Amino acid sequence: MKYIFGPVSSRRFGMSLGIDLSPNEKCCNFDCIYCELQKAPKTDKIVHPPKVLDIIEDVKRGLNKYDVDVVTITANGEPTLYPNLDELVNAVNEIKGEKKSLILSNASTIMEKNIQNALKKLDIVKLSLDCVHSKIFQKIDRPIDKIRVEEIIKGIKEFSKIFHGELVIEVLVVKNINDKNEDFVALNEVFKQINPTRIDISTIDRPPAYNVEPVEYERLFELSKAIKNQHIFIASRKNLANKRESYSREELLQTFIKRPFSEDDIKNILDDASRKIFFMLVREGLVKEKIIANTRFYTA
Ligand code: SF4
Repeated sequence: MKYIFGPVSSRRFGMSLGIDLSPNEKCCNFDCIYCELQKAPKTDKIVHPPKVLDIIEDVKRGLNKYDVDVVTITANGEPTLYPNLDELVNAVNEIKGEKKSLILSNASTIMEKNIQNALKKLDIVKLSLDCVHSKIFQKIDRPIDKIRVEEIIKGIKEFSKIFHGELVIEVLVVKNINDKNEDFVALNEVFKQINPTRIDISTIDRPPAYNVEPVEYERLFELSKAIKNQHIFIASRKNLANKRESYSREELLQTFIKRPFSEDDIKNILDDASRKIFFMLVREGLVKEKIIANTRFYTA
């Protein structure tokens, strides 16, 4: 099965069967400093695009074999560069049954109407937006010449108006590049207009292509405070047992009103005593569970 991989268990989207649209080489129009793939020349197309029929045969076999939550369209690079994307989305939707369809895109093509029309048929669309300012965008995402972050933001805003599924925006934070409070204050202004279903904030956690550093989990949490009234998921693999915080009942309720916590936040941020209070609030019905793009959140 050449065009599928997994299933992969992801805390962000559940159990996923992946589709790889360029299994033999990296094809991407960005050259992000944090990319985990091998360096390769930038391109604005998938060089050897597979046939939709061949991909779908693999997906059918994968779905018969594995029990998954989502079918995820990815590439060894950027999946929206695939020339038959619309046809592929239709075909995936036809066979996926109760599973959700998802794409992981760097958002570089979201201003194009044909891409918007293809993506709006998916259940979940994850778009990356690491920053708002073009200087930082050039430094962190290193796009092929013609791509502008202003156009990406405009495209995401347009797409958010026509898309009825779950829109997830991912921000990847690199130390000394996009890790200032003002970067997140600027992102917050954009998020107010997009109003995504969920915002994922993460940092580097595997060896990147370039010599760059991650930020600490605590910094991600601090930065996330600049994002108001959104469901935020902070992705971290670190065990933070020594650094958990103590919250009173009132503080917890106030926090959940302002910023819903993900299941990971409960584990990573609350100390044992605060977690006991949290479970009590859930039992009393003052804190409620909500599933956002396959991730569990708690809100007051
Ligand atoms: S968009 Fe993704 S695949 Fe492309 S360079 Fe950036 S991290 Fe790598």
